[in-house]
Amino acid sequence: MISNLSFKDLTRARGINKAFHRSVDDYLKVEYSRDLRTYVDRPLQFREVLRSTRSVISGSFVVRFVMRRTEQGDMRVGDLDIYCPLSSASGVITYLEEDERYGPGINITHDPDDELEEAYPISAISCVTRLYRESTQSRIDVITSDTNSPLLPIRHFWCTLVTNYMSADGICLTHPKLTLDARGCIAPAQLGDVAIEHAVEKYRARGFRIGTFVDNDATHQGGETTGYCPQRLRNFNDSLSLTFKFDSFNEAQLLHTFPILEPTWKYGGWLCGGRCVPADPAGNTILTAFIV
Ligand SMILES: [Zn+2]
Repeated sequence: MISNLSFKDLTRARGINKAFHRSVDDYLKVEYSRDLRTYVDRPLQFREVLRSTRSVISGSFVVRFVMRRTEQGDMRVGDLDIYCPLSSASGVITYLEEDERYGPGINITHDPDDELEEAYPISAISCVTRLYRESTQSRIDVITSDTNSPLLPIRHFWCTLVTNYMSADGICLTHPKLTLDARGCIAPAQLGDVAIEHAVEKYRARGFRIGTFVDNDATHQGGETTGYCPQRLRNFNDSLSLTFKFDSFNEAQLLHTFPILEPTWKYGGWLCGGRCVPADPAGNTILTAFIV
């Protein structure tokens, strides 16, 4: 029965009681492994690498994972995007080359023809390394953060739909109400950018409704802010984000505890759909809180 539920329904079922909670978590673990098998032969060992290096997966892999059993659930995912802390990215690359038989990683950070660079302007990124495995024709991009937080680059993403991640043991959606309805708001500072238009079209073609914060009724209702206002200061672990661990590998370790940096952000821009006054009318205001 659980396998027929959408992710939205799974999160509801998970709240019913302990037995459902456990069943949903077990199911998601199996599904995570199944999806990862497109890219790696040993998903559990790969998750251990994510865990020990504090790396996360982001991009369309996560979007498809949460769109299961919906119209958008069959979307094609190209490469797997792994976001790594500066200090541990080389460990992830070495693991893929030596244990998963990927060819030598190639630095594509400055390739102007590359789609990833077009869609995600380099921000808080130190380097992008592309790995390819001939036998399965699978491609992985390892994105090295320029700090020890793998999440800093994700906060700069172009749309609320993709500002999500999966860690070794859990998942975080920053705009769950919109995302699980297959909707997304474009970051105001990136509106009109040709490369972003390309990304918008790609998601629209997959059946997602991508618009501005102003267009979006989830941002404000009757002039009142609902929390998704682009002037609001956000972080991955705030009350608007949907976060949960589906594996209790290490209960003591909180999913979102990246002790050096906890990224926060505001999308900013002039218009939000309500009457909020932007702190910085010039555009994007992105802040970082340092937590030692
Ligand atoms: Zn507002």
